[in-house]
Amino acid sequence: MININNAVQFQHLIWDRIMKSASVVVDATCGNGHDLLYLAERAQSECHLYGIDIQEQAVSASRELLASKKLQSNVTITFLHNSHDIALHQEIKENTIDLIIFNLGYLPGGDHSIITRPHNTIEALNNAFPKLAKDGIITIVAYPGTPEGMEEKEALHKYISQLDQAKYNVCHWHPINQANNPPELYLIQNDNSHN
Ligand code: SAM
Repeated sequence: MININNAVQFQHLIWDRIMKSASVVVDATCGNGHDLLYLAERAQSECHLYGIDIQEQAVSASRELLASKKLQSNVTITFLHNSHDIALHQEIKENTIDLIIFNLGYLPGGDHSIITRPHNTIEALNNAFPKLAKDGIITIVAYPGTPEGMEEKEALHKYISQLDQAKYNVCHWHPINQANNPPELYLIQNDNSHN
């Protein structure tokens, strides 16, 4: 059973469902590769995954972790060492992405000053929107437990709250009886019902 207070675990409920039929998946902050591995292990044959990170150290860690595991045949992964706003704009050409995930903040065990920033995160979302499949979903875990994380969460919350409801379904999930501002989950779905 998952811990329903844990945003990282809670999003797996959504991911598990999408991965049953996903053909293009992007981890926009692949870090040490744990989320990417979770997705790759559930990917169907022919699924292509991208792992993006701004740090070479993170891309190497992810690449190593994924290479050490046996995945379903014909599941392929491309690693992109770049900022996610740029990678989503310039390097990823597909416009039928089923799932894009962001796990914000800094690399655990790495340099804590290299952290996701609100303007890049929002720019990455804007570059991701035209590339989402119909019904495609973006999940974002934000970490408001630090001042920088709270600032980022608030900027993100404000920005995505005003997305056109005719185009996107936007949801926010968060624990409500926990101390110290635990991680929160945002979900954005390309709303196909109006197309
Ligand atoms: N998903 C990862 C995992 O399972 O190990 C954890 C991600 S960690 C919380 C956040 C990552 O975002 C760090 O590795 C950091 O280098 C990366 N990052 C920060 N700013 C970024 C940017 N502008 N573009 C891409 N990655 C960025």
